[in-house]
Amino acid sequence: MFDLRFDNAFVRELPGDPEQGARLRQVEGALYSRVDPTPVAAPRLLAYSAEMAATLGFSAVDVATPEFAALFGGNVLLDGMQPYAANYGGHQFGHWAGQLGDGRAISLGEVVNAAGERWELQLKGAGLTPYSRGADGRAVLRSSVREFLCSEAMHHMGVPTTRALSLVGTGETVVRDMFYDGHAAPEPGAIVCRVAPSFIRFGNFELPTSRGDVALLRQLVEFTIRRDFPELDGEGEALYAAWFTQVCERTATMVAHWMRVGFVHGVMNTDNMSILGLTIDYGPYGWVDDYDPDWTPNTTDAQRRRYRYGQQPNVAWWNLSCLAGALAPLFDGVGPLEAGLQHYATVYAAADRANIAAKLGLAECRDDDVALMQSLQVLMQQAEIDMTLWFRALAEVDVQAPTLAPFGEAFYDEAKRRKAEPALGDWLARYAARLADDPLSPARRRERMRLANPRYVLRNYLAQQAIDRAEQGDASGIAELLEVLRHPYDDQPGREAFAQKRPDWARHKAGCSMLSCSS
Ligand code: AMP
Ligand code: MG
Repeated sequence: MFDLRFDNAFVRELPGDPEQGARLRQVEGALYSRVDPTPVAAPRLLAYSAEMAATLGFSAVDVATPEFAALFGGNVLLDGMQPYAANYGGHQFGHWAGQLGDGRAISLGEVVNAAGERWELQLKGAGLTPYSRGADGRAVLRSSVREFLCSEAMHHMGVPTTRALSLVGTGETVVRDMFYDGHAAPEPGAIVCRVAPSFIRFGNFELPTSRGDVALLRQLVEFTIRRDFPELDGEGEALYAAWFTQVCERTATMVAHWMRVGFVHGVMNTDNMSILGLTIDYGPYGWVDDYDPDWTPNTTDAQRRRYRYGQQPNVAWWNLSCLAGALAPLFDGVGPLEAGLQHYATVYAAADRANIAAKLGLAECRDDDVALMQSLQVLMQQAEIDMTLWFRALAEVDVQAPTLAPFGEAFYDEAKRRKAEPALGDWLARYAARLADDPLSPARRRERMRLANPRYVLRNYLAQQAIDRAEQGDASGIAELLEVLRHPYDDQPGREAFAQKRPDWARHKAGCSMLSCSS
């Protein structure tokens, strides 16, 4: 039916659980369990990514067939698929949580496409696995729409991420207590097929070490390096050190991108950290509207705000130190692991400076520019300024006579705007003076800023509007939004509505400013 070539290295080369099926259990000495997706009542394709379909070799005709929906709803398998749930642990909100594993994600297999690229297909919400821990193995439509859209939006924004091929409605309902307040209700169910070269997480390495199984740890490390980091050579400790350094570097790059575009992951537990440095596990994530380093979209984290926007670079470092701890049994001393963590700090600091230069439109970031950006951020927070609109408008400032005119739409609070006006005027004067001392031509500066400061981001309320429509049976809002987000850095005439600041009604609405882990 569909012509895909599978090469399932993970299940072929690594030890699996001798028991198959979804009986709940602790699984020791194995990195995965074979389990098939549980069929659903009425799979229906609600949205798909044209780029990802083409990458995998699906034609537009393929995508429109009932077989495609059945396949990515988990109702049929293709020859060569070997479905499994991975076994991993993790630190959740700072605490070791033991065995977690894929409780509702089931990998179907690793496709090798015409270009020779490896892409693992994974259904999220495909039913029970040995790791479902008392939950139902399913996912609701709202969280699936959010994962589908954000994966693709991030990709088009140039942020390393897992991808999404399809969003399939299951024709079944799933019961969720959205705010954990005793009001459980049935909601439509859905399944996303997500796609990545590898879904291995920090937590995959932490679990064997927590059980003292160094042989299993070593096997997984050797496998990961060979399959996913073929550019690294050497062997033993030196190879492991080079690999850990590379993981640190990729993680730093990923988080720097998040900070640049105003993305807050929301649940940076170590089971949600990809070994490839990809953004993974889109749950209660959010996009910064009014600039606030203390903001988190995740109501489950509202008290301590461990995963707030401004904290993300530090949390990534903390997560990498957990990974370092898990890898320590493979090293004679901790020196190489400490060097890797130091590399994270160095790469992040450089990427942060690169962000400052690009967002402000400077040829390079000088020491004073760090302070220039910091004072802007303080003002943006005090004056409740929309991050995306501000940086986009900053490129329009008249350097000869800077005023606040281009920023009309970027303010959320009139009184705060008036109060901050003099300080913002001073800042713009400083900025204009700095630009006068910068070698970039105005045209090159504007282009640089355009490519660093997206015009369209997946604002929480936009996703919620598409979800509300989809829950009423009209999925077209998802494709419409995806179409806009395919070109986040372009001005798209006629689509101004998608570039507006969060409307007042969305300020405190569920799904728009607060999200729980219930999904
Ligand atoms: P998350 O915070 O979404 O990354 O999930 C943490 C853990 O809970 C992972 O091991 C998930 O597989 C598991 N999990 C979350 N939701 C469900 C569900 N509905 N059914 C089974 N397992 C789940
Ligand atoms: Mg997870």
